[in-house]
Amino acid sequence: MIFERYDIIVVGAGHAGCEAAAAAANLGSKTLLITMDLRLMASMSCNPAMGGIAKGQIVREIDALGGYSGIVSDRTMIQFRMLNKSKGPAMWSPRCQSDKMLFSAEWRSLLEKTPNLDFWQDTVVGLLVEGDQIKGVKTMMGGEIESKAVILTNGTFLNGLIHIGEQHFPGGRMGEVASHGITEQLKEFGFEAKRLKTGTPVRIDGRTIDFSKLIEQKGDDEVVGFSYTEPFKINKQRSCWIAHTSLKVHETLRKGFKYSPMFNGRIQGVGPRYCPSIEDKIERFAGKDSHQLFVEPEGWTTEEYYLNGFSSSLPDYIQYEALRQIEGFENAKIFRPGYAIEYDYFPPEQLHHSLETRRIHGLYFAGQINGTTGYEEAACQGLMAGINASLTLRDEQPLVLSRAEAYIGVLIDDLITKGVDEPYRMFTSRAEYRILLRQDNADTRLTEMSYKIGLAKEERYQNYMKKKAKVHEIMDFLKETSVYPEEINRLLEEKQSAPIEQKMKIAFLLLRPQIGLFDMTNRISILKERYNTEDRFIRECLEEAEILIKYDSYIQKENELAEKLNRLENVKLPKEFDFHNIQSLSYESREKLNRYQPETLGQASRISGISPADINVLAIFLGR
Ligand SMILES: Cc1cc2nc3c(=O)[nH]c(=O)nc-3n(C[C@H](O)[C@H](O)[C@H](O)COP(=O)(O)OP(=O)(O)OC[C@H]3O[C@@H](n4cnc5c(N)ncnc54)[C@H](O)[C@@H]3O)c2cc1C
Repeated sequence: MIFERYDIIVVGAGHAGCEAAAAAANLGSKTLLITMDLRLMASMSCNPAMGGIAKGQIVREIDALGGYSGIVSDRTMIQFRMLNKSKGPAMWSPRCQSDKMLFSAEWRSLLEKTPNLDFWQDTVVGLLVEGDQIKGVKTMMGGEIESKAVILTNGTFLNGLIHIGEQHFPGGRMGEVASHGITEQLKEFGFEAKRLKTGTPVRIDGRTIDFSKLIEQKGDDEVVGFSYTEPFKINKQRSCWIAHTSLKVHETLRKGFKYSPMFNGRIQGVGPRYCPSIEDKIERFAGKDSHQLFVEPEGWTTEEYYLNGFSSSLPDYIQYEALRQIEGFENAKIFRPGYAIEYDYFPPEQLHHSLETRRIHGLYFAGQINGTTGYEEAACQGLMAGINASLTLRDEQPLVLSRAEAYIGVLIDDLITKGVDEPYRMFTSRAEYRILLRQDNADTRLTEMSYKIGLAKEERYQNYMKKKAKVHEIMDFLKETSVYPEEINRLLEEKQSAPIEQKMKIAFLLLRPQIGLFDMTNRISILKERYNTEDRFIRECLEEAEILIKYDSYIQKENELAEKLNRLENVKLPKEFDFHNIQSLSYESREKLNRYQPETLGQASRISGISPADINVLAIFLGR
């Protein structure tokens, strides 16, 4: 086979690879996406869902930057919920259940419509490298394909090893082969590789579940969706269901512990602490009689259900016996058992913030290969690697998002300055500026930036400008317009808020925690006329205007703090510096700084074990 020379080759069409390929091609790079099986693009290896706490914010950020994950999530959604709606807006997190098969199909269709993008179904077995410069890849079938940059997004496939009870066999995912050769070659180039582990639960035949014994969990009435681009509507939703384990279920699972690869030491890789297997949960929380499980449909038309919370690598017959002791599952049949998988990852401190590797120019890593877990975490890294590989080829500075600009910035900075010792997933608690990084304002934070580099297209930019103008118009109106006691006091009474005695500006009333703008748009005639509408665009603008008014003082405080810390980010440290030269740093700090090679004083300050005193020493060393 004769191939053209590409600007960028993306290896793997998982969530990271698909976003990387889309971004690179949309930025004008001649891109080739190579993957083992083109039918399984952005396959949902685990739960059929996108978003959730902190992850929903990431999907909106990807969308605001011009990525496709939000669009695909909206088009394939079967249920939507805004999580944490009872808490402050910093915590609101969109989450949807997805039709898993449609999700892959929709990704493929979008990518096939993307200019500058070619596809090749094959397995990459090695890299072409000259000196410290990437030159392309070697594949199992196609020989050698040349390119100026390569983005590796191999997911759980690098030397993947699947475990079910005492059985274990190579595989990248159930039914798919593992990838060999890349880790071994990269180790020869001096890269460090380690092992991690993750797991997935049993899939059940819905025709054999007694749903009358489960608790139904419906979607929200108001469906917001993820993408800022498309007018979004979903006419029906599918329910999820809640079930519970019992002591009897736990006893049955315990019978299998002696065969468990987790407990008998056969699994060496570290698993995600916050997403433990059911056997881990009953061992760690031995005092708990029951654990909650979510029964999630895998699509509109399929009868396959995913049992969230029941991930296991116990022998399949033990999983099956325990399952049948759960109320509602007495006669359940399964499509496949749960399993665990161990795989190689490359500790991410070997990367620059652009996701380019420090050792080989033009080689980028994104997704699970960097020690993360989750579709959203993978997708956003893919997007950034695709953007940065393209910008570098255009001789432009990479796009590095700060911790105050995006969860994506937090994620990448955490990976590079802190490394990982277990699969990394995003939590809101990882971000310092949560009130700035809300799901509603991802477009305000990121779209202009993306437009400037040419990724966000004109239509998206114009949508954003339209929204910005509308939000300002609403805010001005709310700040200038007053309501009278006779119009509002009844509502205030219902909300247990003190009545007013003279007219008051609406914006001022909004500062009261009990009072929401949508309560008023239903009741106060002047607001009713203007803003009582089902139009999603107007409702989103109202929501953002309300948040900006209600939380103004918090937003200002976080902005000031971010500004202060940002000054440290602008102080550059020398490249490839040997910190052992600074004797006044402790030996441990010198070791850590040498390992992580922070590019700025801000990054150095976030390395665990680097103290404020060390930062002072570095500042003095830099003449500050
Ligand atoms: C069993 C299991 C359980 C999981 N459980 C969870 C969970 O509970 N929670 C959670 O958040 N996430 C979970 N995940 C992880 C989630 O699936 C990943 O985080 C996410 O899919 C990673 O995306 P990615 O793009 O990095 O890689 P993947 O989605 O794994 O995609 C990798 C792609 O690369 C291709 N590929 C690999 N090697 C090559 C090669 N050499 N040549 C060509 N193509 C190649 C593969 O075919 C695949 O298409 C689980 C994954 C598995 C497999």
